[in-house]
Amino acid sequence: MTPSATTTTQQFTYAFGDGRADGDTTMKALLGGKGADLCELARIGLPVPPGFVISTDACRAWQEQPVESGLDPELQRQVRVAMDELEQRTGRRFGVLEDTGIPLLVSVRSGAPISMPGMMDTILNLGLTRDTVMAFAQASGNERLAWDAWRRFLQMYGSVVLAVDDHVFDAILTAARTEHGVVTDTELDAAALRDVAEAFEAAIAEACGAEAIPADPFEQLARAIAAVFASWNGEPARVYRAHYGISDDLGTAVNVQAMVYGNAGDTSASGVLFTRDPATGVRIPYGEYLANAQGEDVVSGMRTPQPIAQATALDGQLSLEQLMPTAYASLLDVIELVERHYRDSQDMEFCVEDGTLWMLQTRRAKRTAAADVRIAVDMVEEGLIDRAEAIRRVDPDRIGDLLVPSFERGTEHVAIGRGLAASPGAATGQVVVTWQDAEARVREGHSVILVRPETVAADIAGMVAAAGVLTARGGATSHAAVVARGMGRPCVTACAGLHIDEAAGTVTIGATTLRVGDPISIDGTTGEVLLGTVPTRPATVDGWLERLLDWADEVSTLQVRANADDAVGARRARALGARGIGLCRTEHMFFEASRLPLFVRTILSSSETEERDLLEQLSPQLEQELEEMFVAMDGLPVTIRLLDPPLHEFLPETADEARAIAADAGVTVEEILAASAEHAEHNPMLGLRGVRLSMVAPVIYEMQVRWIARAMLRAKAAGADPRPAIMVPLVMVAEELRVARERISEVLREELGDDASSVEIGTMLEVPAACMNAGDLAAHADFFSFGTNDLTQLTMGLSRDDAERFLPGYVEHGLLPSDPFVHIDERAVVPLMELAARHVRATASTAEFGACGEHAGDPASIAAMRDVGLDYVSCSPLRVPGARLTVGRLALADLPVHRAVDD
Ligand code: PEP
Ligand code: MG
Repeated sequence: MTPSATTTTQQFTYAFGDGRADGDTTMKALLGGKGADLCELARIGLPVPPGFVISTDACRAWQEQPVESGLDPELQRQVRVAMDELEQRTGRRFGVLEDTGIPLLVSVRSGAPISMPGMMDTILNLGLTRDTVMAFAQASGNERLAWDAWRRFLQMYGSVVLAVDDHVFDAILTAARTEHGVVTDTELDAAALRDVAEAFEAAIAEACGAEAIPADPFEQLARAIAAVFASWNGEPARVYRAHYGISDDLGTAVNVQAMVYGNAGDTSASGVLFTRDPATGVRIPYGEYLANAQGEDVVSGMRTPQPIAQATALDGQLSLEQLMPTAYASLLDVIELVERHYRDSQDMEFCVEDGTLWMLQTRRAKRTAAADVRIAVDMVEEGLIDRAEAIRRVDPDRIGDLLVPSFERGTEHVAIGRGLAASPGAATGQVVVTWQDAEARVREGHSVILVRPETVAADIAGMVAAAGVLTARGGATSHAAVVARGMGRPCVTACAGLHIDEAAGTVTIGATTLRVGDPISIDGTTGEVLLGTVPTRPATVDGWLERLLDWADEVSTLQVRANADDAVGARRARALGARGIGLCRTEHMFFEASRLPLFVRTILSSSETEERDLLEQLSPQLEQELEEMFVAMDGLPVTIRLLDPPLHEFLPETADEARAIAADAGVTVEEILAASAEHAEHNPMLGLRGVRLSMVAPVIYEMQVRWIARAMLRAKAAGADPRPAIMVPLVMVAEELRVARERISEVLREELGDDASSVEIGTMLEVPAACMNAGDLAAHADFFSFGTNDLTQLTMGLSRDDAERFLPGYVEHGLLPSDPFVHIDERAVVPLMELAARHVRATASTAEFGACGEHAGDPASIAAMRDVGLDYVSCSPLRVPGARLTVGRLALADLPVHRAVDD
């Protein structure tokens, strides 16, 4: 890349168009995303107004100085040189009074290495002074344009650099509109805009003194650059970075670029567009424009923008395609070129000045998870990328967003409004109208819908907290829409007839008035607003995701199975692509209301015979349940874990609870409470549970094995191919497994005869001792499955049930990198797993290895466990699609499975 300043000192400015910026991460780190992209766009021959980038190095250097010291003299010198070059390129002069044609005005925009839309400051039309406004008017032959540029500059400079309250400017504009009887600023004529500008000048002079707007444009430029640097540490930018885990050290670049005018008259326009629909991924230019307007008008929500493509226009709307067909055709060419170049969907800003198209910026389009998947798959079909690239591109952590719930359509609901479907998914919660209230109510455990006229940067904390966002204004590219989509929050914008009275705490939508705290539901997929709490139903995998996951399955070397405890779960898991059940927790079968009393009586029984007789009464139900699971997983393994929790978990603790089941159980309240006291343990997680229980009370395991065997026979009789496997929990030494296995095999032989050996018997590895003893266990196990929940608990000495009290603090203070129950601990737990696998492989064992704790559905943990040599991971059904994508990505290369933030 060619420097625009050739000195031996550090280079801070980089001209775009002159040189090459690859748009790679190094370039983005130095020039910011926007700057690197502008360089790239100029290089590939797109119509980009000339300009230069001030690097993030300069921002970081500035942050280290005392605020009052202003811009570094060397940076100022380089900016001066770059401005000279800009004058030459544009043939326009910066801040020169003589009649030299249209003056050079510039935009000064932030541009961080990682996109932070709307979080930092921008100043447009910089370079005008009170004395040059008329020169501009004369040269352009458009007096209105000149006053419009000047008043916009005053407002932006006033609020961004001089910190004048924006409301002051808004009040002046509102008064002007009222005085002239117009609704929008576009309708104000040159004289009205001159009055507005003069009122702005007076307001700034009153707030900051008469000399507050520098008469020297270079002085304006220096202060504007410093203000953009400062906005890196403004509240909205810091909150956004904290939410997305973006480093505070990156700094922002500043882009200084010649202004072009979308507000030069009726043949001019400004617009924003996504090359494909960011909500669905459909290949159609999706965005908005405003004729005779500057870019910020499009996103501000003050005027209602019109659609770009005719296909997306509603009745009464005038698309750019219709209004300016030539510019629209150029836009399509640009889209084609840009997508071929970046091989990804882009989000662009453009401007039409007197019929000529200018591209102002392009960046990777933020999109919903659904659009992300569809775009990746479509681009494979279009030959832009290959399958591996598609698999790499989609972040597995976002697949969960795709499986967002939708409203149960069969149920009664009352639609009270409709807006733009800005970010998909169904959300329901209490109405709140401020971000502070959103945070407070969520802290109290409520779900909330944040309702705002439109969202601004300060609302970000409320959007983080809320289940969904509803706004009165703003289009598909508004702040609310973009931020909500990025977060996977359902969002409806531009809701017709929505009025918010913050002071009264009321929200009116058409004829309905709601109070803060009232329940409301929004459907970000359809744009509907519904009264009250509407029940939701889970989503399913669509055709695009299905294709992507099939491609991932083809390359992956690791299988994904599901944790499911009943037939419904099994069917669900299979529909989501699970290749079997890796963990069926049988305790859940006893907790069901109709079965619990009988199981309680079993626990209280005095002899093994009585115990067996009682459990036999459960046989029909449980055999059927298991049979249905085998049928649902026809031909695939179903790993059934024998009873794991301590028995006291099944026993009521209070007299009231005991009374509720005593009659059904056929025992007295006193007997139940006595048994509960007898089974109580100080450390139940370390107590009489899992295989230990079967050593002292073997009948439960015996009966469970009988049910499994009989269900297998029933499934076979029904024509299915059942593949049960029996798993023994909480084993610590080989002797336990040897005894358990002998007993299980004996029952299987009784039930199945010669077929008994077709049922595999294995164990969980969830006690550290078992990992150390895994070589000895191998003699008795056909398979192993790491129970990473208990293994984390027992390796780290952290209670699964109580550690949340202090773990967040540990993470906050850097004592642990993350919650080890969410992301697996890589310093002790993973090495222990690797050790166990090595011990087993050192024997003649060919046992399979799986993992079935919560970590088995977490992309980062799956990647962390890659060297254990697992054959499968098993996770809850909804996490199966994300896990499939993760194992596909893992198989492809040594790539980071986690994409930390959207670039
Ligand atoms: C585990 O401990 O990781 C496991 C899968 O078993 P559970 O969560 O039921 O204890
Ligand atoms: Mg466990």
